Amino acid sequence: MLRQDEQRMKIIEHVYQVGGSGISAPGDAAIYLITSGDIAALIDAGTGEGHENVVKAIDACRAPGTPVSFLFLTHCHYDHCGGAARLKKHYECDIIAHEMDARFLETGDGRVTAALWYNADLPPLTVDYKISTPQEYFLIGNLELQAIHCPGHSPGSLVYLLETPGHRVLFGQDIHGPLHPDLLSNRDDYIVSLSMLLKLNADILCEGHFGIIRGKDEVHKFIQSYIP
Ligand SMILES: [Zn+2]
Ligand SMILES: [Zn+2]
Repeated sequence: MLRQDEQRMKIIEHVYQVGGSGISAPGDAAIYLITSGDIAALIDAGTGEGHENVVKAIDACRAPGTPVSFLFLTHCHYDHCGGAARLKKHYECDIIAHEMDARFLETGDGRVTAALWYNADLPPLTVDYKISTPQEYFLIGNLELQAIHCPGHSPGSLVYLLETPGHRVLFGQDIHGPLHPDLLSNRDDYIVSLSMLLKLNADILCEGHFGIIRGKDEVHKFIQSYIP
């Protein structure tokens, strides 16, 4: 790919969108790439139906030879995780998820992962590292990535907050919901979680289905709009 492809996918220094509907496959939720120092990490994996496109995009954005070491999953739904197994195989990356969602990935639960909604099959997926605390910190090269438990849409939903020089980037997929019994959603948890997200004061929100929302006020407005 050409340098212009990299520029097109760049959100800010260190952060790219490498997949999503309109980029990799129609059913894909957004896939983001973080690069720093000599490593790269992914946030979510899409359905897997656009695997080749995702790989092409990742390889256009990372420096040659930079390993993709981690795949951080925001939650267990098919549109975010269906592609995880193939990406893990391709890049030999470790998969990270919250333990309360990991159990449905590891059993390949078609209902709770929403795979049945997509008429798809989500074969059991091994999660290499399970988050079990309210928050946890990871280092991606020189950048700190904070995983924060954000239950509601699913029991083990996570958001990830990335501090870059000049930006607080929130990877918050499916902030908009939906809430549904099949997904084991919990409305009370969801409202508490959204209020917590407002306090993070992010100035960029990388959402799963609504693109990139820029500016503290706009991010605040977007999250607030889902709080009844
Ligand atoms: Zn979801
Ligand atoms: Zn989604």
